[in-house]
Amino acid sequence: MPDVFADLVGQDEAVTELRRAAAAAAAVLRAGVADREPALIAAGPASGAAPDGVDPSAGMTHAWIFTGPPGSGRSVAARAFAAALQCTYGTGCGECPGCHTTMGGTNADVRMVVPEGLSIGVGEMRALVLRAASTPSGGRWQVVVIEDADRLTEAAGNALLKAIEEPPPRTVFLLCAPSTHPDDVSVTIRSRCRVVPLRQPPATAVAEVLVRRDGIAPDVAQWAAAAAQGHVGRARRLARDPEARNRREAVLAVPRRLTGVGAAFDAASALIEAAEAEAEALVAESDTAERTALETALGAGGTGRGAAGAMRGAAGQLKELEKRQKSRATRAQRDALDRALVDLAGFYRDALTMALRAPVAPVHTDTAALAGAGAQKWDAEGSLRRLEAVLACRAAIEANVKPRIAVEAMMLALWKG
Ligand SMILES: [Zn+2]
Repeated sequence: MPDVFADLVGQDEAVTELRRAAAAAAAVLRAGVADREPALIAAGPASGAAPDGVDPSAGMTHAWIFTGPPGSGRSVAARAFAAALQCTYGTGCGECPGCHTTMGGTNADVRMVVPEGLSIGVGEMRALVLRAASTPSGGRWQVVVIEDADRLTEAAGNALLKAIEEPPPRTVFLLCAPSTHPDDVSVTIRSRCRVVPLRQPPATAVAEVLVRRDGIAPDVAQWAAAAAQGHVGRARRLARDPEARNRREAVLAVPRRLTGVGAAFDAASALIEAAEAEAEALVAESDTAERTALETALGAGGTGRGAAGAMRGAAGQLKELEKRQKSRATRAQRDALDRALVDLAGFYRDALTMALRAPVAPVHTDTAALAGAGAQKWDAEGSLRRLEAVLACRAAIEANVKPRIAVEAMMLALWKG
């Protein structure tokens, strides 16, 4: 039976560190140290407060940041570590109730915060911090996993910082972020956390897990792993979902369609609309379900005494739901567009490596011939300029430039070179 770390692809160093910390955490519980002397584990990463003969970096601490590129498995690592903390044996055996409930998302002492909108607000964070301070019902740890900690609002970050600065003895915060750059995580939060850097897993490791865990045929797994550029979840979708493959093909058709100014604007529209459609399909189902549930709960259509007042309250709640759903839809659109841009960047990266005759495998094996033709036409310099245009578009959208404007500018740059 594989243990809870089995799906953490190509991250041997991180797994070793997490196993050690989980064992140290179990030892802390056995000794009852956490309750008597919280300082022993409350100390930050640079502290020398560990007991004699114990390597402080091997021990346990209350706040962690998992960093790495998208798809490297930040949240997978955080969840596995949470499971190891709740594991009866302190190892993340994968079989005991603690491991099972955590991996299945039903452990009462593990909270996963997955922001659906563009940011995590202060209200949500305060409620979370409050809950995290309670005694763990399973007798081990209260674990709070914050996916996309880079999406905390400033106020939410401050609320979290207070909790990290004076953590309750049995509470552990696990943050996930792309990097420890101050744009992603505030310097003060960073200084209180131990960082677990994850790397982009090699395509061979990704392919291996697709075959082993998902039963995907080896040749499909290899192609999908390379095309997904180390993103495990995306590789799985490409291997399994024909729609995802079609969308990718449409994106990779962009370079040969750029034959003039009009074509460049058309390509921009097509890319934006494809991202919108993909996002809409993704959120439509949950939107309808949430609205129906809320309307039922509010007893829509009720009459009689107090109904007018109730309806006013209901209108407010529906408005609040719509606001939340709109924010989630925007986020889904940005994510879809970003996936398309990463695919496109892979194409120009292939052209660049071919122009340089670099001995590396192409990202997109199925458009390698096209990238080769581009390499001849544009040379290394022209390929690099195009790659930079795609990356600049991503950066602009990240900095809140309207996606359509950023994508149009990119398409023109790709056409002109
Ligand atoms: Zn276990």
